[in-house]
Amino acid sequence: MQPPKPGRVLIIDDDPDAIYLLERVLAKEDHEIRHASTLEDALRAVDSGQVDLILLDLHLSGFSGFELLEIIRADEDLSDEKPYIPVVIVTSSTETEYKVRGLDLGADDYIVKPFDRLELRARVRSMLRLRYALHELSLAAMTDPLTGLYNRRFSMSRLQEEIDREKRYSHGLTAAMCDIDYFKKVNDDHGHLAGDFVLQRFANVLREISRTTDVVGRYGGEEFLLVLPETDLTHARMYCERLRTKLQDEVIEFEGSEIRVTVSIGAAQFSPEKHAGIQQFIEQADQNLYAAKRGGRNKVVA
Ligand code: GH3
Ligand code: MG
Ligand code: MG
Repeated sequence: MQPPKPGRVLIIDDDPDAIYLLERVLAKEDHEIRHASTLEDALRAVDSGQVDLILLDLHLSGFSGFELLEIIRADEDLSDEKPYIPVVIVTSSTETEYKVRGLDLGADDYIVKPFDRLELRARVRSMLRLRYALHELSLAAMTDPLTGLYNRRFSMSRLQEEIDREKRYSHGLTAAMCDIDYFKKVNDDHGHLAGDFVLQRFANVLREISRTTDVVGRYGGEEFLLVLPETDLTHARMYCERLRTKLQDEVIEFEGSEIRVTVSIGAAQFSPEKHAGIQQFIEQADQNLYAAKRGGRNKVVA
């Protein structure tokens, strides 16, 4: 088994002595500790994405640990980018009823005070293992292993989210479908490994020119989907042109050969009048992609 990794532990408690004791016990293991004693502070800390494990007291002034647990778990989505945060209840309540309720509401462990220091540290290590394993899983579930970009399933779910947002705010949402030209020939001339390498290099070009709010995914084979929030068609066209010329100018060296490829791109801006849903939207980008192919390839059609 891998050596234990320290984590960012959030103690939710309103008793300074209890917090001090937990801090001292955990200080031995290099964890990064913070604490919150109000519901607002606790939720803010959780939302920050900077917490790996929560140690939760049940009886707090103004709110109960159960209440907080319900809020945290209601918000959670295992397919989300924000991974699951294990919660350990640390309380002096020994009643079975409390244990059952806490675990049923989504706590992962229940420790009764006064606790044994060695046991508490071991349970924290165990919960952090769970946290990191779930984190790896959720990353793997949304990533394309060859390029490290989002995979098709995750890109599509992000696109759906952006469509929902666009329907409310109308800031402009563009999707672009990119397909490498004559890619089959790269495989035929240089081998499949060279083809893979070209896909990785193309993914790097995409990463270089995209913003953090863009969704860049591998749609399949040598097709890539770009989701550009807050971008109208004019700006999307400029962006796609930049991508097209950057790839055209790129010399990809693989095992002594120099490979050059080009890309064809079809872009479309979302319109609630024209597109009933995600399928129609993608279809329009796809039609523009085929127009770019028919028009001679190495082209952007928006
Ligand atoms: P076009 O300009 O019309 O897009 O032609 P093309 O050759 O790029 O398109 P086609 O759809 O005929 O061929 C796509 C090729 O991409 C065929 C397939 O073997 C290859 N391919 C798909 N996925 C991968 C991959 O992961 N690695 C490699 N090396 N090749 C792949
Ligand atoms: Mg192709
Ligand atoms: Mg293709």
